[in-house]
Amino acid sequence: MENTQTKLKEVKLFINGEYVESSSQTLFEVKNPATQEIIAKVHEASFEDVDRACEAARQAFEEGPWRTMPVSERLAKVRRMAEIILERKEELARLEALDVGKPYQVALEREIPRAAENLKFFADFMEQQGGEVYPMDDAYLNYTRYEPVGVAALITPWNLPFMLTTWKLGPCLASGNTAVIKPAEITPLTVSLLGEIAQQAGIPDGVVNVVHGFGVQSAGEFMTTHPEVDLISFTGETTTGKAIMKNGADSLKKVSFELGGKAANIIFEDANLEKAIPVSIQAAFMNSGQVCLAGSRILVQHAILDEFLTRFKEAAAALVVGDPQDSKTNMGPVVSETHYNKVTSYLSIAEYENSTLIYGGERPKLPTHLSTGYYLQPTIYLQENPQARICQEEIFGPVVTIIPFDTEEEALAIANGTEYGLNAVVWTENLQRAHRISHDVRAGTIWVNCWFVRDLRAPFGGFKKSGIGREGGHHSLEFFTEAKNICIAL
Ligand code: NAD
Repeated sequence: MENTQTKLKEVKLFINGEYVESSSQTLFEVKNPATQEIIAKVHEASFEDVDRACEAARQAFEEGPWRTMPVSERLAKVRRMAEIILERKEELARLEALDVGKPYQVALEREIPRAAENLKFFADFMEQQGGEVYPMDDAYLNYTRYEPVGVAALITPWNLPFMLTTWKLGPCLASGNTAVIKPAEITPLTVSLLGEIAQQAGIPDGVVNVVHGFGVQSAGEFMTTHPEVDLISFTGETTTGKAIMKNGADSLKKVSFELGGKAANIIFEDANLEKAIPVSIQAAFMNSGQVCLAGSRILVQHAILDEFLTRFKEAAAALVVGDPQDSKTNMGPVVSETHYNKVTSYLSIAEYENSTLIYGGERPKLPTHLSTGYYLQPTIYLQENPQARICQEEIFGPVVTIIPFDTEEEALAIANGTEYGLNAVVWTENLQRAHRISHDVRAGTIWVNCWFVRDLRAPFGGFKKSGIGREGGHHSLEFFTEAKNICIAL
């Protein structure tokens, strides 16, 4: 096992090219969720600090050279950020595991490389962009330019901090905007390094700023109400999205929201269970179930219910729950005490609703140094009523519910019977059914016989209460640019 003892870190704000202390000298603590050890003291941005960050981003936008430099030069710097991230991937993965409690190996092999890819992808993608041309007889020529919007507030959650922040920062920078970033208060460690990584890549001061703090009456709210912020790209809870939309309304900010989910993972009787079971285990318990795309409602056709329950339970029991820094660990703790209390409150809700516990529901047996960590076993319930709270609410932890069904129509009604619509998963060997279900489920991404496969060009986002707008490829670039039509008399 790797050494988990860490030196206490001091995390500062990154404003206009330098790390600075909070002007109010207010600091908050960050804990390792596996041990409750305090790992960092973080400077909380006051209103004045957020104001300075937004003003710096405005000045860097208006005065250049970021917006005005040759596109190839700008994109080379974004690509350089990606290279630096890969050069520092062990350090970043170690910090992400420490902060979030996710397995180091997953951060190292998937999330940090994907963060680098987010930046490189948008630099490459931007280079390929053309525009529209509309000749009007021989009298006029219209052509379109895509210009940066201005100052972007990038506000991100704690479950995939570095990956999700770069997913926004890539298109934001590639299209010439400047940014004020705010990571989630409980997991700020990796994102705080984006300031120095941007600087090392040669990105001018003021283009990338990172502030820390909370939401209400703190950095988050100060950013979303700030007059110098033109657009807000937010990933987080649906309720937070509503608050941000209200706060941004007075200054008419452009918004892009990626919000909560409660995905149906539909397993038909003809599914290939050899594939469906291991992937459904991933979809249920990856990152301790703290994934917006988690397949947390597993709809299983009655004919295969017994077999599925036996095999799914065996596979869940085989997961290694343990120290995130240990390379053998499949699942770590949940992220914080508050979140642990929320997730475990659903155990009594499930019992109250007469759900049948199939597996888990307790603290796993762990070595002494993890005895205070926020751990819960992978937990599986069977519930016949799709309206039960555990089938409707986003638990965002290692707790999944199996809901039996008989017909395709019934599966569809259950899949669509929530306020969310981020994604769904379908397991069937019947091609026509795969298409039918994919067309009729109201969600932004449908995975057929797979899960979590991402092409960064494809649109990503939610129907219903799961979001507003789409990220990915030209969808991200459209959000971060203003289209300008130029009409020339010939
Ligand atoms: P959250 O909404 O509590 O916090 C997200 C961010 O918003 C944090 O940085 C927080 O400080 C900030 N914030 C909170 N209140 C604010 C306010 N009033 N004004 C401005 N900023 C504010 O979400 P979380 O608990 O960190 O993350 C979990 C949620 O994120 C889940 O609902 C999950 O489904 C969702 N999520 C969605 C996606 C997606 O792509 N759709 C991806 C990951 C996570």
